[in-house]
Amino acid sequence: MLLEAPGGQLRDVERPAPRIGSGDVLLQVRACGVCRTDLHVLDGELPDPALPLVLGHEIVGTVEQAGADVTRLQVGDRVGVPWLGWACGRCRFCRRGAENLCPYARFTGYQRDGGYAEYTVADARFVFPLPPALTDVEAAPLLCAGLIGYRALRLAGEARRIGFYGFGSSAHLLAPVVVAQGCELYAFTRDGDARGQAFARERGAVWAGGSSQRPPVALDAAIVFASVGELVVRALEALAPGGTVVCAGIHMSDIPSFSYDLLWEERSIRSVANLTRDDGREFLPLAERLGIRPEVTVFPLDQANEAVQAFRESRFTGSAVISIGG
Ligand SMILES: [Zn+2]
Ligand SMILES: [Zn+2]
Repeated sequence: MLLEAPGGQLRDVERPAPRIGSGDVLLQVRACGVCRTDLHVLDGELPDPALPLVLGHEIVGTVEQAGADVTRLQVGDRVGVPWLGWACGRCRFCRRGAENLCPYARFTGYQRDGGYAEYTVADARFVFPLPPALTDVEAAPLLCAGLIGYRALRLAGEARRIGFYGFGSSAHLLAPVVVAQGCELYAFTRDGDARGQAFARERGAVWAGGSSQRPPVALDAAIVFASVGELVVRALEALAPGGTVVCAGIHMSDIPSFSYDLLWEERSIRSVANLTRDDGREFLPLAERLGIRPEVTVFPLDQANEAVQAFRESRFTGSAVISIGG
């Protein structure tokens, strides 16, 4: 399903299976999650996508062919492909373990073709083994919503009371982690979204309300998953002294100006960019240990446009996943 120009629809096209380099694997895609970043690429909110482009960076696939230099993987292995498709390994960011900030990094479904397709190519060094207990469609959302959400949670620091602004794919996967750490989760949805608030409570939130509401207690940290700049200010208003607001998305509408009082007392705002392979090596086994399972709504590949539209309109709770070939 090909994106030819931002703002358009994905088009169902037939292309020959892609060729691989010596360090790559050719994957038969089994499932690919839908992420908000796909919408940002589709809508032209992120610069210079590699058009024509196959979207999708929560890919579960099986190795169909491995390049001559690939030693770690064999034909038939099931792997996950995340957003970080490649990093240089040489720059000052890569050398200090911050490959997520590599200026030469190439991202899946943005600068490299992704997983809204029957086949895709990945650099074998950047794919992950997946928890065997999860089905293909269950494993897919872990690869971005789970992984980058986990990075956001880590960067929120020591916090006992944590707020999630937006309770979608990431938040519902991270909620069990917060609960397992013995912390209290406060969930904020669109005002009046009773279904979303009930879902958040089901996933372990001790409190759920609308984003214009104040939580009953001050929060030690808040993660803003939604791409709405105003929520950064709402989250700051809810923070205790010393607290942190983490912005987990790649794109956000402008943050309105606010009084310095809201930042005073060592409150901070930070963003989370991308992921490192270490995030995956930590999060995927943790997800397996905690038995984290997403709630998924499944679409066939030829309904990728419907899947994206359903995501845009928040027509389901949990994650949307495209299932390919059974
Ligand atoms: Zn680098
Ligand atoms: Zn994503």
